[in-house]
Amino acid sequence: MIYRTFKDQKLSQLGFGCMRFTTDPATGEIDQAKVNAMFDLAIKGGVNYFDTAYPYLDGKSELAMAEALSRYPRESYYIADKFPGHSLTAPIDNIALFHVSLKKCRTDYFDFYLMHNITEWSVKYYESEEYHIIPDLLQMKKEGKIRNLGFSFHGGPELLEAFLTRHEGQFDFVQIQLNYLDWTLQDAKTKYEIIVRHGLGVWVMEPCRGGKLAVLPENESAKLKALQRDNSSMETAGNAEAFPSDASYAFRFLQNLPGIKVILSGMNEIFQVEDNLRTFREEWPLTAEERAVLFDIAENLKKGVPCTACRYCCAGCPVGLDIPYLLQCYNDFKFATTLAPSMRLDGLDEEKRPAACIGCGQCSRACPQGIDVPAALAELAQMYEKAPHWSEQVKLRQKIIQKDLGKES
Ligand code: SF4
Ligand code: SF4
Repeated sequence: MIYRTFKDQKLSQLGFGCMRFTTDPATGEIDQAKVNAMFDLAIKGGVNYFDTAYPYLDGKSELAMAEALSRYPRESYYIADKFPGHSLTAPIDNIALFHVSLKKCRTDYFDFYLMHNITEWSVKYYESEEYHIIPDLLQMKKEGKIRNLGFSFHGGPELLEAFLTRHEGQFDFVQIQLNYLDWTLQDAKTKYEIIVRHGLGVWVMEPCRGGKLAVLPENESAKLKALQRDNSSMETAGNAEAFPSDASYAFRFLQNLPGIKVILSGMNEIFQVEDNLRTFREEWPLTAEERAVLFDIAENLKKGVPCTACRYCCAGCPVGLDIPYLLQCYNDFKFATTLAPSMRLDGLDEEKRPAACIGCGQCSRACPQGIDVPAALAELAQMYEKAPHWSEQVKLRQKIIQKDLGKES
């Protein structure tokens, strides 16, 4: 297993993400025996980092993770959990909810604790004086109930830079969506560099883009298979047919980036655990050729527009839209695996959203990439209108939070 040191903690670089456990479609109950078997295999292979969140699997992920880990000594693994500030619509007793999570996870401290899902929309709640989230979590850290405090982030680079600057010295690590597709599609490269520049640890979520990079289209996967004869130095552990997998390339793209401590994989099948353990057994840096092939595949997977964020179009927009930002949301919608793109649009004032475009075409005339911006914005406005809205999710999650807090009081 590859390990990374972070503040005297020896973390397995492969982290077990607990958001995709198999559930019974009728009852919603998690298959605990399968979770236990996956954890046993992962722990035997050296994994010592387990990541859950208060809302995962309607609150059942924390319980299933705790049940599986209860068979091992507490000091033999690290737990990460998350505070659902993005699901609040009114101030709550943050400390009480934090203790609900501690209880569900059968622990009296979290090794790693994150503010969940900071975006242009949710940041106002996280920073609200009335909601008092950051001071309460800093207090929990002071009391030793949080060993390392961080946040998961789905916003743009500008917000990340501003947020870290406003909160210099308060956080230890940041978790971002990072993979060879989002490197350019979501400008994840810039976000990664911002975190490193601020001296914080980089945690990676969605290394395979919700599975899309783990099972590539046949023609793209064939490009990786053609490379396999160059990888003869890597043992194939009796599974030469299946290995190296498409997923292994996605992980290897990240393994050697300086500053990356943990790469989370939301495993829900035994074969995924086995495959990931092989990939993380030892360092296996990408060759220049492999890297070039991955970027070529990424370009082919993108179905969006090739905006380079040069901003030549912005000054002349009569309604003052942040066109590159909107086009990034457009590209993300085209490849969306989460509610993040609609959350990012929710964070804009109505007159800055795509529907405000009057179709004058000035931007397209200024665009060196020849992008038909008004057409893209019209399509984005439609996708945004039809997308599931974050506010609906919030309503559902509010009920769970209130129920949990009611039980405690
Ligand atoms: S077409 Fe829309 S985005 Fe482009 S300049 Fe006109 S109003 Fe702005
Ligand atoms: S001019 Fe074209 S490439 Fe540049 S920011 Fe505007 S849309 Fe993007």
